[in-house]
Amino acid sequence: MTNTAITSDLHTWTPGARAEPSVRIGVILESDGYKKIDLVTPDEVCLITQGTQGDGGGAVDRPIPSGTAIHIERTDEGLTLRTAECSIGPVDRLRVDPQEIASSPPGSGILVRNVVAGRGFHWQKQADQTLAGSLEFVAAPGGIVMVNQLPMEDYLVGVITAEMGSACPVEFLKAQCVVARSWLLAMTEPKHHDEPFDRCNDDCCQRYQGTGDMSQSAIDAVRGTRGLALIDPNGKVLDANYAKSCGGISELAEHVWGQPKPGINAIVDAPTDDPVQRFMPVTEDNLDTFLDGDWLSNTRAFCSTHIVPVETISQYLGRVDEIDDYFRWTVNYTRAELESLLRDKLPQAAGLVELRDLRVLSRGVSGRAIQVELKWNEQDGSEVVHLLDNEYRIREVLHRGFLYSSAFAARIQRNSDEKFISITLRGAGWGHGAGLCQIGALGMGLTGHDVDAICGHYYPQATIEAVYP
Ligand SMILES: [Zn+2]
Ligand SMILES: [Zn+2]
Repeated sequence: MTNTAITSDLHTWTPGARAEPSVRIGVILESDGYKKIDLVTPDEVCLITQGTQGDGGGAVDRPIPSGTAIHIERTDEGLTLRTAECSIGPVDRLRVDPQEIASSPPGSGILVRNVVAGRGFHWQKQADQTLAGSLEFVAAPGGIVMVNQLPMEDYLVGVITAEMGSACPVEFLKAQCVVARSWLLAMTEPKHHDEPFDRCNDDCCQRYQGTGDMSQSAIDAVRGTRGLALIDPNGKVLDANYAKSCGGISELAEHVWGQPKPGINAIVDAPTDDPVQRFMPVTEDNLDTFLDGDWLSNTRAFCSTHIVPVETISQYLGRVDEIDDYFRWTVNYTRAELESLLRDKLPQAAGLVELRDLRVLSRGVSGRAIQVELKWNEQDGSEVVHLLDNEYRIREVLHRGFLYSSAFAARIQRNSDEKFISITLRGAGWGHGAGLCQIGALGMGLTGHDVDAICGHYYPQATIEAVYP
């Protein structure tokens, strides 16, 4: 793909522009603490420097031949740049602009050494990446910020190949692409407000790893949906949330973020004659059967293991936490284990001596707990009641890493004195559960549904429209 008319950037983009925006992606962040970055230019690039210290600003514009190794360093005064031929700086900002934005074939673009992937997670590692488009370097107090600016459609190829395996059915990739494009164009989530980019390159926003893993099916999926976005019932681009697995029923936005969102509805993630239909909504009364009933042996729910077998998920969804059954799962804690977890995760639980109770007070329609009450005794015998009051907080506190979802039944085992001995969380799904269910959408793709059917299923009030040609 090569660059066509890019007339606006994402921050100022409106559907009225009828043009593809460029996006600015933070690839190396200040928090990564990089003091040096090494690059190799593929083709002739143009080097632009700004804010040269000592001369009161201004720009220097100079061509650099292809195959040049560039070393960028953060010093106390700003950024310096060195090649075998030249040395410039210190400056506040540097920009490396390719003559042409060539994002195919795979591996094209500027080579950047040792980029962080999986930031903050246990699989964090460093790898070389090739990035199409231009690179901008900003001297931030904590290190160098590297921003990759490129056209939206080229960016989406890098998202689809980083989030999804190339074995995925193309109609699923198309749906993922329409959803990712819509989420990005809607730009409603307050992330990275004070940073010099729109979105970062990691799970915090959407995964993006450049052109290195590009596949033909990803390129086809992006080309086949060029400019297509979901439009909500108010006529705006849908803020198209998605999550890994709903567990059979998706969740309402008000139970995840505290307020409804136009076009985000709760749906049953299965054909209309499937046994899971009778659990909508999940309540305390039907929860146990929803989580463990006989119906599970013959459901055709799209995210169930009958449609997407556990052992195949990694080949479709790329990197996953660990291979596991995300549709139904179990976590066990002894009282001591859970007490230690609460002391570590909850500042209010520093003085916890004996955990007495854990109760779910309210749930969303997918069974996701949205209020969990904890009771414990302190050293002086006083009782503390603490409320975890949203699904994110519940998942964050009740696991060393992150609990798959808050759609669980809590069963406490007590001894003859009614003392808390251990607890079992039997749960469904992975993630907040609102919007498209990625494993379910994959299941729909595997069973012959096309992009329109997949998007229509998860966002029944939304339409798909071309927002730019
Ligand atoms: Zn982010
Ligand atoms: Zn699902």
